[in-house]
Amino acid sequence: MRSPLRMLIGSGFALGLFVSACSRPPQYDLVIANGRVMDPASQVDAVRNIGVLGGKIVAISEGKLQGRETLNAEGYVVSPGFIDLHAHGQTTGDLQIKARDGVTTALDLEAGVYPVAGWYRAMEGKAPLNYGATVGHIAARFAAFHPDIEVGHWAINRSKVASLGAMPAGSNKVASEKELSAMEQAIRQGLDEGGLGIGFGINYTPAANQSEIEAMFRVAAERKVPAFVHTRAFGIAAIREAIDTAKKTGASLHIVHVGSSAIGDMKEVLELIDSNKAAGMDLTTEVYPYIAASTTLESAMFDPGWQDNLKINYGDLAWAATGERLNQESFDRYRKEGGWVIIYMMKDENVEQAIAHAGIMIASDGVPFVDGKGHPRGAGTFARVLGLYCREKKLLSLMDALGKMTVIPAQRMEGHVPSMKRKGRLSVGADADITVFDPKTVIDRATFDEPTTPSAGIPHVLVNGVFVVRDGGIVEDARPGRPVRVE
Ligand SMILES: [Zn+2]
Repeated sequence: MRSPLRMLIGSGFALGLFVSACSRPPQYDLVIANGRVMDPASQVDAVRNIGVLGGKIVAISEGKLQGRETLNAEGYVVSPGFIDLHAHGQTTGDLQIKARDGVTTALDLEAGVYPVAGWYRAMEGKAPLNYGATVGHIAARFAAFHPDIEVGHWAINRSKVASLGAMPAGSNKVASEKELSAMEQAIRQGLDEGGLGIGFGINYTPAANQSEIEAMFRVAAERKVPAFVHTRAFGIAAIREAIDTAKKTGASLHIVHVGSSAIGDMKEVLELIDSNKAAGMDLTTEVYPYIAASTTLESAMFDPGWQDNLKINYGDLAWAATGERLNQESFDRYRKEGGWVIIYMMKDENVEQAIAHAGIMIASDGVPFVDGKGHPRGAGTFARVLGLYCREKKLLSLMDALGKMTVIPAQRMEGHVPSMKRKGRLSVGADADITVFDPKTVIDRATFDEPTTPSAGIPHVLVNGVFVVRDGGIVEDARPGRPVRVE
């Protein structure tokens, strides 16, 4: 005999069926229909319909889905939104240019920030993309030596460091016990405030000796967060030093921009990384697809001896604001003035080797654009890999390239940032960070002369279910970006 409750449930179910048979109300905020869904995590590559509700992916189906709104993605690839683990440009404008390149999450893990909580507060409501940062050793070190200035975000607030003049103590003075413990305390505080690990630019703080770096790596190991490291110098010796320090302290290690960090030693560096990974070390790296680097001319990277470190000379430097190549006289003049410089230091074959290498992520190292000038990597990195290195040079498959931009960076982070398990995938329950692009036309257009020109062939980008790029144009007032942080 049926209980009254069962009968009630039964009739409700029947009623539901009846309604759906007549005029089924839309179940989703948005349906992305008929696109070629490519999800490197599951290796799915098939035409599917995606249902988005409340900022999440709630359905992926071969069958038709009913949304309040439908985007026809026929002929396009629908991919998880790209995750950039190395994005210094964090202004609204910088992030909008990155959105046009398919990026949905932009994290500054190398330079990072200090203090951390204030930075996250300042970003609230301003970001079109998901954002986040490590606690930065550089900024924490400057705080220990110059308590009167707050560096905050080193890449954006570079004038604060420049105001300290040439060779500031924050870069060039060996830390006392007191300064070292102030730094450790700052780093711990930054991690307590949700920092995504510890960021290092050892090349920019040459007085940070091995025992200081070891002490900081110990904090990373103790808190089970990775150290994201721009090594002490360029070439394999400095990379080996970072790996050895990580092994000694038990810290996880991510080496940034292996293209410039390894320079001519690429083959040996990739072997060194692979052999350590095979031996069980938590070690990763990333690359941006350009042969020139970029940084600030006043930084310690250009302290005397830079030619040997970088294996270049004056003529390999271009002043970003004007594009002019430097000589000794203009180098000295601009170094006093301070500003961004483009550094021609890599070979295409080495960069290609890294891009094609299994497990190496794509990350832009995009620096803030100043008056429309800077390095094109902040605008074109991801489309350049897809268009130039995938489609034209056939260096790697589209699925492998997408993996390097989505699930692999998500996996790098999700061990200590559980919310990253919902990113970098097209699966039910994932955040609706989605990039829709045309595999036949996607390409970077930013150049060293016109570095902010947005990429082409990426018509739609959604962040948490909200369009930030639609029909090939930026949605000006969209600010759906949410903080990525350690909760
Ligand atoms: Zn760097």
